[in-house]
Amino acid sequence: MSVLIQNGLVPVAEGYETTSIHLEGDRIVAISPDLQTADVCIDATDKLILPGFVNAHTHSPQIWQRGLIRPLPLELWLADVFDAASSSNLDELYWGAVSTAVETLLSGGTCIMDHVLLPWNQELEAAATVAQAYRDVGIRAFIAPLMMDEPFLAGLPRGRSRTSQPYPRSTADILALMESIIQQVHHPSTGIQVAVGPTGFHRCSDALLQGYAELSDRYNLCRHLHLLETQAQKLLAQEKYGESAVHHLQQLGFLDHRTTLAHAVWLDDRDLEILANAQSTVVHNPLSNLRLGSGIAPILKCRKAGVNVAFGCDGAASNDAQDLLEALKLGTILHTLTEPDYRHWLTPRQTVQMAALGGAKGVNLADQIGTLEVGKKADLVMYDLTNLSLLPRTDPIRSLILGRPTHVVEAVWVDGTQVVAKNQPLKIDRQTLHHHLLTHRQQGQQVQFQTIHQVEPHYRSLLPDFVQLDP
Ligand SMILES: [Zn+2]
Repeated sequence: MSVLIQNGLVPVAEGYETTSIHLEGDRIVAISPDLQTADVCIDATDKLILPGFVNAHTHSPQIWQRGLIRPLPLELWLADVFDAASSSNLDELYWGAVSTAVETLLSGGTCIMDHVLLPWNQELEAAATVAQAYRDVGIRAFIAPLMMDEPFLAGLPRGRSRTSQPYPRSTADILALMESIIQQVHHPSTGIQVAVGPTGFHRCSDALLQGYAELSDRYNLCRHLHLLETQAQKLLAQEKYGESAVHHLQQLGFLDHRTTLAHAVWLDDRDLEILANAQSTVVHNPLSNLRLGSGIAPILKCRKAGVNVAFGCDGAASNDAQDLLEALKLGTILHTLTEPDYRHWLTPRQTVQMAALGGAKGVNLADQIGTLEVGKKADLVMYDLTNLSLLPRTDPIRSLILGRPTHVVEAVWVDGTQVVAKNQPLKIDRQTLHHHLLTHRQQGQQVQFQTIHQVEPHYRSLLPDFVQLDP
C-alpha cells in the first residue's frame, strides 16, 4: 500500500519547506511538493514532520514503580527499587512494555532500547513477552536483557570485601541463557532485535563482558550498558581496575560502533578520545541524572571530541515520566550551566538530530532510519502545529524542543505502518492499557523499604571521597 503525506512542513538547511512524502511498503520512496496520488492520502497542512527519535535507554518494567521511589542517590535508590521490584508476573511485564512503548510513540519516538530486567528463571518466556508487547504496539525495539554476575555490594567502592556471597548464577550459565534468548527473540526483519545488556562494569566480570562481546560479534548485536553514572562508580573503576573504566572496556573489546553507553556522567578527556575512536555512543539521560543526583553528563565535550550522542528517558523509577520531548528539552538547556561560551550551547535542531540520527547510529541503523530521506525506512512523526502548546507559529522546532508540547504527536509511522493517529495508538486499545495500569496492582502503600538499611551506612562512609572528584 502506498501512502502520501501531503503538504507537511519539513526542516531544510535554512528554515522549513512545505512538501509531500510518498511511502511505499516500509520505505520513503519520494519527497517532493509535486506528488499527487497514492492509495491513501493524508493532509499534513499545519503539521511538522520529523524522523522518529530513538529512546536509547529505558527499563520498561519500572513503569510499575512510577512515583514510588524516594529521592535518593543511585546506590541507595537501587535498594528501594529492589524492594519495590515487580513480581515475576509476565502480564505486568507485558503491560509495562506496552505502556513504555505508547509513551515513547506519543512523545516522538519510533524506536526503543529496553534495558529490561527479566524475572529470575523465566527469562526466555519473559523476553518473548516483551517482544510481543512491542510487536503489538508496532514500535521498533531493541530488547537488552539486563544481567550481571557480581553481587550488589561488589558494585560499590570498598564493597567487595564486605560480601562473601557469590552471585547465584555462573557466568557461563548467563551467557548460555543469553544465547537462548537471542535464538528465540532476535528477529531483525520484524523490527525486534536483541542486544547484549550487561548492567555495567560495576557488577560484571571481565569474562562476562568478553563473552557478551563475542555473542555480539557472532549474531551482529548491539551492545548496551550503564557507564560511570555516579562518582561511586568512578571510584570503583580505580579500585577494580586501577584505571579508567572506559579504557578497561576498550581493552576487553567491548567498545565498538554498536555500543551505547547510558549516562557516562563521569568521563575524562582520555575517555572521550577512546569513545570517539571506537565510534561508541553516549546516551544522555538528563532527567534521571538529576533525579538521582548523579551529575551533568559532559555532552558538549562529547560532541566536541566527536563522540556520538543519543537521548534516553531511563526507567520510570528514576524518571517518573517517559516523555522523550521532556528529556530533549532538559538535555538542551541543561548545558548552559557548564559552558559559559554560549556559542557552544546546543540548538534545538542539533538536539533533534542527536535524538533521531544520533540514536539511529547508536543502534547501528543509521543507514536505515534517523533522517527523512528517499530510500530510508518510513519511521516518521507528524506533529500538530495547531495545538495550543505550539502556538503561535514562530519556529516549530524551537517550540517543540524548548516549549512544553502537550498531546502534539498527531501521527506516527514505523516501518511504513501507521501506528498512531489523532494522538492515539492504533494497534493497542488505550482504554485497555489504562485499565491494566489502574487495576493490576495498587501497591504503593504496601512496599516496605528494608534493603536500604544494609547499604546506607557503607554508602555514607563513601561520601567524603566524592567531593574531590572532577567534574
Ligand atoms: Zn538505566
